Amino acid sequence: MARGGDQSWRPRESDGQPEERTAQNSRAKMVKETQYYDILGVKPSASPEEIKKAYRKLALKYHPDKNPDEGEKFKLISQAYEVLSDPKKRDIYDQGGEQAIKEGGSGSPSFSSPMDIFDMFFGGGGRMARERRGKNVVHQLSVTLEDLYNGVTKKLALQKNVICEKCEGVGGKKGSVEKCPLCKGRGMQVHIQQVGPGVVQQIQTVCVECKGQGERISPRDRCEICGGAKVTREKKIIEVHVEKGMKDGQKILFHGEGDQEPELEPGDVIIVLDQKDHSVFQRRGHDLIMKMKIQLSEALCGFKKMIKTLDDRVLVITSKAGEVIKHGDLKCVHDEGMPIYKAPPEKGTLIIQFLVTFPEKHWLPPDKLPQLEALLPPRHKVRVTDDMDQVELKEFDPSEQGWRQHREAYEDDDDGPRAGVQCQTA
Ligand SMILES: [Zn+2]
Ligand SMILES: [Zn+2]
Repeated sequence: MARGGDQSWRPRESDGQPEERTAQNSRAKMVKETQYYDILGVKPSASPEEIKKAYRKLALKYHPDKNPDEGEKFKLISQAYEVLSDPKKRDIYDQGGEQAIKEGGSGSPSFSSPMDIFDMFFGGGGRMARERRGKNVVHQLSVTLEDLYNGVTKKLALQKNVICEKCEGVGGKKGSVEKCPLCKGRGMQVHIQQVGPGVVQQIQTVCVECKGQGERISPRDRCEICGGAKVTREKKIIEVHVEKGMKDGQKILFHGEGDQEPELEPGDVIIVLDQKDHSVFQRRGHDLIMKMKIQLSEALCGFKKMIKTLDDRVLVITSKAGEVIKHGDLKCVHDEGMPIYKAPPEKGTLIIQFLVTFPEKHWLPPDKLPQLEALLPPRHKVRVTDDMDQVELKEFDPSEQGWRQHREAYEDDDDGPRAGVQCQTA
């Protein structure tokens, strides 16, 4: 099973040039259907990390607290994640599609509740914990790579439920709480519905009068501040300390700062860091990866280059005389990667991938070519005999239909050379 992504990395294409080497990462994978992948917006070849990240973004975006009308979408996202995050279920899905998942094991689709998946993912503790504690509030906080490198304190304004000060969470005057007359304190209403000749169905719904509470306060006794809701919505500013070396997706917990509810321990506020893409650096663990374009002359004759760090210092790198840098070569600088969380000033490694810019066509007058050739390593001589066919070499357009798929299918069979990082002290 080729599900490489995790160990192999490749700097993102920022210049949009088609590059042979990038094909390794987009290896095709044969799956029966792609619906779950489409829901999460990832490719079937996505790594577990990519799937997690996609779920995290979508789950926060479509959470019913933020998007009450998107409950169905939230459910689909959760189901897709539940399957694709479990290697066994993912294999079953890849081979047999949704049908196979639904038939798997017990015979009936057994998806967990979207809220449980969400709580599990964000560390909310699941249903049991929810019953004794108030709801957790999860917020995404957008940060730059510079923020994660240097550390930063951000202020975040939150809306949260707070026990009403006026009625102290009673909802009205003391003693004004009475058993709900509609459901007689059960919190549920039972309806009998005829669904066919001689067939009745009993349907239970949450009581409309008391909303499942089993008790109510008559309108004239209700607290004028919270209107009987027992809680009020308040704005609270929290300070989030983003520490050096924290990473995308990391959670920062504010214990007990979640919604308050009467007779429950308040839940937590969970801040999830969301790192924006950086124009120069990509992060992999403690390391930073960047691409650097160099001219052919620099690749052959050496260079000095400057790199601006995430804390605004300038590094100068020099290639040694006589060293030849090939297109795609990797070099590194120790201790110029990301600060290590909880252990700065220790840092990871800065990895630089060199992209050699070749000169344009006809950059050199034809009469100068022999001079250049005399300096370069000799070319291979070819002896053409009569039994060979001389054919025309033409430009090829990689966007030509069908070629891409073909190439990926081919490369799926072949593990190809993985970019091994060879590091030398700069
Ligand atoms: Zn009721
Ligand atoms: Zn009140």
